[in-house]
Amino acid sequence: MKGLRSFLIVIVVIIVVLASRDYYLIENYKESYLQELDKNLSENNMEHSDLVDNTIKDIMLLVESNGEVLSRKGLLSSAEMSDVFKIVNEKSDAISSMYFIYDSDGNGVNSTGDVSPGDLGLDLREKTWYLNATESNETVVTEVYNDATTDKPVITVSYAVRDGGEILGILAADVFLENLNDHLEVLSKWRNAYTYVIDDMGSIVLYPDEEYLGFSFARITEEQLVERGITKEYYNENLYRVWNEDFTKYNDGFVEYRNPRFIKVYGAFERIPELNWTVVSAYLYSDVEEATWRYGSSITFYSLLASIFLGIIAYYFLVWSDSRDPVTQTMTIKKMEEIIKKRPKEAEKCILLIIDLRDLVSINDRFGIKGGDKVLSQYSKLLRSLVRKHGALATTKNKNFIFIFNDNNWERAVEFTSVLYKKLAKFPVELESKTVFVESFLGLTSFQLDHDKEFEQQLESVKQLILSFKNSVLEEPLIYYDLNKLMEEKKNDIILKDKLFSAMEEDRIVPFFQPIYDISSGKAVKFEVLMRIKEGDKFLSPFPFIQVAEKYNVIEALDSIVISKALEYKNKVDENDEVELSMNISGMVLNDYAFLDKIVEKVDELNIRHSNIIFEITETQDALESTKTLDVINYYKNLGFKFSIDDFGTGFSSLYSLKHIPADYVKIDGSFIKDLVINNESYYVVGAIISLAKAFNFKTVAEFVETEEINELLKEMGIDYGQGYFFGKPEEHFNFHV
Ligand code: C2E
Ligand code: CA
Ligand code: CA
Repeated sequence: MKGLRSFLIVIVVIIVVLASRDYYLIENYKESYLQELDKNLSENNMEHSDLVDNTIKDIMLLVESNGEVLSRKGLLSSAEMSDVFKIVNEKSDAISSMYFIYDSDGNGVNSTGDVSPGDLGLDLREKTWYLNATESNETVVTEVYNDATTDKPVITVSYAVRDGGEILGILAADVFLENLNDHLEVLSKWRNAYTYVIDDMGSIVLYPDEEYLGFSFARITEEQLVERGITKEYYNENLYRVWNEDFTKYNDGFVEYRNPRFIKVYGAFERIPELNWTVVSAYLYSDVEEATWRYGSSITFYSLLASIFLGIIAYYFLVWSDSRDPVTQTMTIKKMEEIIKKRPKEAEKCILLIIDLRDLVSINDRFGIKGGDKVLSQYSKLLRSLVRKHGALATTKNKNFIFIFNDNNWERAVEFTSVLYKKLAKFPVELESKTVFVESFLGLTSFQLDHDKEFEQQLESVKQLILSFKNSVLEEPLIYYDLNKLMEEKKNDIILKDKLFSAMEEDRIVPFFQPIYDISSGKAVKFEVLMRIKEGDKFLSPFPFIQVAEKYNVIEALDSIVISKALEYKNKVDENDEVELSMNISGMVLNDYAFLDKIVEKVDELNIRHSNIIFEITETQDALESTKTLDVINYYKNLGFKFSIDDFGTGFSSLYSLKHIPADYVKIDGSFIKDLVINNESYYVVGAIISLAKAFNFKTVAEFVETEEINELLKEMGIDYGQGYFFGKPEEHFNFHV
């Protein structure tokens, strides 16, 4: 959860940083783009104003020079003039028609010949271009007006032909804007910029699209408004405003407005002073926006890529790595917490399996962390495949596995755990071309989730408790439903362990001796050595301590203390070596010779006859299955020692032991003897054991002979030896002459 939150914060920060960077870059780009545009538009205007200016000037010059010729020559004949005009018309792209009007009668001459005012239907001497020319010594250019016959926008360049001070007539040239436009093809679009020219009255003189020629910025008709579907205000705010406020007041500048097509444009304008015309170069605003957008989208695209990339990295570090163990590829405890806390309240009690690789520490020591990681990852792969469907598996920081079952069925969990234990047993891993077998420790328990406590802490303490049994539960999984009871037991264990260890340190472990009677002779010929722990003036039974000693691997040490002390005592009181000592040894020591060899050494050191030593072993399944155990027993038997099968009748397979274990005595378990007189079953069992033992040549011993009655019955049944409170309790000393 924490990871997710910081991930989201990081993502927001990344997005804010990148977005503000993008915004800054886009704005910057826009600004420099516009600057560049301004420069280009201005250059464009300059070029075009020169061009227009020169073109018009050329026409003016043509008109003027022809006028001068007429003046000097005192006019030509109308036929001659007509020829000249024909040539001019043909030569000039811009001039559509040149003509002369006689001031005397208003008659005219054009390229086709004479024209009378009657033909025209009006007296041209009343026209503005005519009047203007008469008032000037130079060529004059009219505003744009619509031609009377064609209704096309046109300008007229006129010049007064004089003879001295007297005006003979006016030479004029009509320039249809259409033609001028064609002539000035260069006005064509430059980088999507439109260049056009408007005159001081607000009329478009030149425009790349002919239909706009003559269109007025200053005046617009109702019809035109309707045609364009715009309102008067809209028009006023755009075309009229630019014309009225900018074009007529300044010599140059930049404007933003709606052009004659009513499309938003960004333009630069410049005056041609001689003509009172304004050249405008405009750029479609959408193109500026598009360019910015294109730039913006490309950088946002890269930003997006960057944020995805950074996001993945952040996710990996803040969420994924927090939720997944990099070595084992299982979830982490943190992730498990999320999952478990989502469960309904009633699922707070759960079944928990803790899995530990016993040899991980030594593998890390021998093969390095890399070796350890290899083992972990391979082991985890198998484990994951085995548990996947049954619950949630997580890895702790110390690389233990914690598995929480999906359901709370304890029996099923127990069954699953023992199957799993077998599947994980002796897991082979190839390390430095050696096969290493990894052993597992599994601990199953139920677990009450406590919301007030930190989840990880809680799991950790359960784990610690379970793992503290790692060295005492060796050949099977630890299965313990009630964690509190386990804890109680653990506490007891620790108390017992502490007591035992300090007793060992303080030399308070002592042997007691209990007589074993020969039933036929009625004499105490053997003594069983029983361990006691001296505490104050009390001697404690070893029973609970034996288990603890086995758990903490001190059983051998304990046995050898007791046995040595017993041997030394016997050596002291039994000078002639007449008494046999029967000594309990843990089944665990029968796996190797070392322990018993030490005892043999002691026996030999004290010069005790081997035949006077009996080892009491309890029959367990393991002991029976292991040929090694049988070899060990045979080995010491060959040295003259004797063996007794202890607690006979309760173990795995009594018949099997009798046939295979090369022992000398069978010690019938006290539970059958105790109630021999009152319990028929016990009576039959004991009877059967005695006859079986005889058949296999074993001597029989009965323990827990507590009464005379029992003793009498056993004698009748043919028992060889008896031991019990009836004969004598275990004591610190023994008197073998009894
Ligand atoms: P065990 O080998 O079956 O020993 C006999 C137990 O019965 C002894 O208990 C003994 O005091 C008790 N006992 C003797 N006669 C009677 C009787 O008439 N009635 C009843 N109710 N009990 C009687 P203890 O000394 O408490 O020993 C308990 C067990 O601890 C022994 O059972 C033996 O398995 C083990 N043990 C004792 N000393 C040693 C030792 O030095 N080494 C090892 N490895 N185990 C030992
Ligand atoms: Ca015994
Ligand atoms: Ca017993």
